Amino acid sequence: MEEWLTMAKRDYYEVLGVSKGASEEEIKKAYRRLARQYHPDVNKEDPNAEEKFKEINEAYEVLSDPQKRAAYDRFGHAGTDPNFGGGTGGFGDFSFGGFDGFGDIFDMFFGSGGRRRRTGPERGADLRYDLRIEFEDAAFGKETTIKVPRTEVCSTCHGNRAKPGTPIKTCPVCGGSGQVQSVQTTPFGRFSTVRTCDRCQGEGKIIETPCPTCAGRGRVRRVREIKITIPAGVDTGHRLRVSGEGEAGERGGPPGDLYVYLSVNPHPLFKRSGNDLILEQPISFAQAALGATIEVPTLEGTATLKIPEGTQPGTQFRIRGKGIPYLQGSGRGDELVRVHIEVPKKLSAAQREAIQQLAEAFGEEVAPPEKGFINKVKEAFGK
Ligand SMILES: [Zn+2]
Ligand SMILES: [Zn+2]
Repeated sequence: MEEWLTMAKRDYYEVLGVSKGASEEEIKKAYRRLARQYHPDVNKEDPNAEEKFKEINEAYEVLSDPQKRAAYDRFGHAGTDPNFGGGTGGFGDFSFGGFDGFGDIFDMFFGSGGRRRRTGPERGADLRYDLRIEFEDAAFGKETTIKVPRTEVCSTCHGNRAKPGTPIKTCPVCGGSGQVQSVQTTPFGRFSTVRTCDRCQGEGKIIETPCPTCAGRGRVRRVREIKITIPAGVDTGHRLRVSGEGEAGERGGPPGDLYVYLSVNPHPLFKRSGNDLILEQPISFAQAALGATIEVPTLEGTATLKIPEGTQPGTQFRIRGKGIPYLQGSGRGDELVRVHIEVPKKLSAAQREAIQQLAEAFGEEVAPPEKGFINKVKEAFGK
């Protein structure tokens, strides 16, 4: 089962503008600088400042805490989500309401530092896969296959760790419970302690002949090809949850989930603003002054754009429906064409003369005509 989780939550490292390997000091520095810059008290006129400030604080809260940071590095935003891995089924009410309950999540991921008794089925870990896609594929969608290295249940022994046909015996030391109780008598009374059975490592079973395929581990590492469908309209920060494609569970537990995190390559011409595309289009002074009909690139070929007479630099034109499709629902954003007046770097003699005449007509001062090389040489020799 595939499920798209589309909150465009930015990468915390990206939010703070630091690299993944940034030191604690670098993170603190970046945070201080950004917090000063976007503090809502300083940015009263910027309506986005508050949102931005919250985002910066959230990123810092996670990246400044080594444990939270480790979980984030492994699982991304899901690693900081209280609902993650809860097995509640359905992520419809996915919320990012602070980080309360993070400790529980952390225990869930890391098994309370290994203190948890290792008996009974255990759900496999979730996996994160970072996928980089082209701008056009984000816009129009794509089917692709990813290669995910993961742990799977051994297909020879089906996870029971014994060579097929060989016996699996109940541990004689613990009688199959995996635990050994010992009672100590001291002057203060009798103390009873329970510890994991040394003989069977808490499994309660003894394998006589280990499975040759997995060397008695019950699980094997392999690279699995998984086909995924990227829908049209996705963006960096979107992620796909593929349920049951994570690491294998232990002792018959269910597998974890696979999370595919997308990042979209930039386009050489277009920038993206939500579902709109922004194109910077150069036009000439003559086209701006007199008006023109020009061809502009779109994601699918070209479109005709009418530049009206007297168009000013920086004017933005809107070509409806040529942007990015909406991920949920129908329709597309627009293409916004921002025009710039291009000044020619080289002119022919005729062009130069025409522009000079134009300047004269406007009554403008311009540089005198440049002397040719021969004239310069003559001048240098005083002739
Ligand atoms: Zn095996
Ligand atoms: Zn035992």
